[in-house]
Amino acid sequence: MSTISKQKMISFDTAREFILESIQPIQAVETISVSDALGRVLAEPAVAAFNVPNHDNSAMDGYAVCFADMIPNRINRMIVVADLPAGDILDQPIGLCEAVRIMTGAPIPPGCDCVVVQEVVERQGTRITFPPGQKYRQNIRSAGEDIKAGSEVFPAGRRLSPADLAVLTSLGLLELVVTRKLTVAILSTGNEVVEAGQPLKPGQVYDSNRSGLRAALEKIGVDVLDLGLVQDDRDAIREALEKGSENADVIISTGGVSVGDYDLVKAVLKELGEVEFWKVAMKPGKPQAYGRIGSALFFGLPGNPVSGLTVFLLMVRPALLKLMGTNWNIERFLELPFRGVLNKKHQRMEFVRGLVHFDPNGAYVETTGAQGSGILSSMTQANAFIMLPETPMHLNNGERVRVMLIDYD
Ligand code: AMP
Ligand code: MG
Repeated sequence: MSTISKQKMISFDTAREFILESIQPIQAVETISVSDALGRVLAEPAVAAFNVPNHDNSAMDGYAVCFADMIPNRINRMIVVADLPAGDILDQPIGLCEAVRIMTGAPIPPGCDCVVVQEVVERQGTRITFPPGQKYRQNIRSAGEDIKAGSEVFPAGRRLSPADLAVLTSLGLLELVVTRKLTVAILSTGNEVVEAGQPLKPGQVYDSNRSGLRAALEKIGVDVLDLGLVQDDRDAIREALEKGSENADVIISTGGVSVGDYDLVKAVLKELGEVEFWKVAMKPGKPQAYGRIGSALFFGLPGNPVSGLTVFLLMVRPALLKLMGTNWNIERFLELPFRGVLNKKHQRMEFVRGLVHFDPNGAYVETTGAQGSGILSSMTQANAFIMLPETPMHLNNGERVRVMLIDYD
C-alpha cells in the first residue's frame, strides 16, 4: 500500500480518495436464495429468460373485442361468447361481433385487440352495447412491456432492493449469485471506556461506539464480529487485532488514534500491519488511521462517538460498498437555503449536523444546535450534514448551502 504524508494535515478529499483507490472489490461469490438477498450485491448480470408479462393481457375488467368489428361513431352491439377470469386462457378465435368477458390480468383471446371497460358497457343476457370512441389496443398490457426476453434486468454490482427482489421473482428466479458477505470486526479501546451494565465511576463513559457501529454495519448488510472492549493493554490490543485480521475482511477500532494519545493502539498497529495515522482537515473526525493488518483493511476511528459515526458515514461506508462490489458513489446532495447564521473560523472542512425540513413550501436546512463533538444527541437529530469548505466562512440566513443527506443503508 502506498503512503501519504503523515506529518501535516491532509484534506478530506485526499484521505477519501486514498482509501477508495486502495480498495479492490471482492471477487468471491456465493449462491443464495432470493429470499435472503436483500441488500446483497449481484455478482453477475440478471437476464430475463422470458417476457414479463409473458402474454398480452387485460389491464381492466371488461370485454375483449376485435377493433375492426366496431363501426366508428356509433353505439356498438356484440354477443358475449365466453367468460375469462385471470388465470384462464381461451385459444379459440372469436367470430364477427363477438366479445369475451375478461378480467384484469387474463390473456387477450386470439382475434381480440381492444378491451372495453365494464363501466361503459350495458349488458342484457349475452348482449352488450357500448358507446363509440374505443381505441385500438386500449387497456391491453403488451407481452414484454415490463421486461423483454433476453434483456439485462440488472447489471453485476446491483445492490438488491425490495423491488429488485420482486422483479427477480417475477422472472421465476429462486437463487442468485452474489458477492460473498463481508465480515467486519469492531473493537473499542480506552481505559476510561466501560461496558453498559456496569456502574459508571467518575471519569468513565459507556462504550457507545460499538453499539452504533454494529447497527450501522448491520444496515449495510455485513456480518459483524465483535472483538469487544479492550483496555489500553498491549497484549489485549494485539490479541484482538490478530483475531480480527484472521477472521474479518475489515477491522474498525475506535479510540486511540489522536496525536499525543496515551495509549498503545498505535504502537501495536505499527507492529502488526501497515497503518497510517492521519490528521484529516475535517471536523468532526480529525484523527484517523487507515491501512491493513494482514489481509484485513483497518480503519482507526476517533474515539469520540460523534466523530466516529461521522467518519464511518463519510469514509468507511463508501469503502465497504466498494469492497462489496457495488456502486459506492450513492450519497445524495442538495443545495438548500440555510436558516440561521453560522460563523466558521477554522481551516478544516466541516460537517455540521443539520436538520433538513422537507417543507412543502420549500425545503430548508438548519443546524441541530450545539455542535461540540461530545454532543452525541446531535447525531440522532440530524438527517444531513451541512458541508462547509475548508476556508473560514460566514453563512447568513437564507444563503444556499450544500447538504449531504445522512443515509445508513
Ligand atoms: P480518543 O480518540 O481515544 O482520544 O477518545 C476521544 C474521546 O472519546 C474521549 O473523550 C473518550 O472518552 C471518548 N471515547 C472513546 N471511546 C469511546 C467509546 N467507545 N464510547 C464512548 N466514548 C468514547
Ligand atoms: Mg483513548
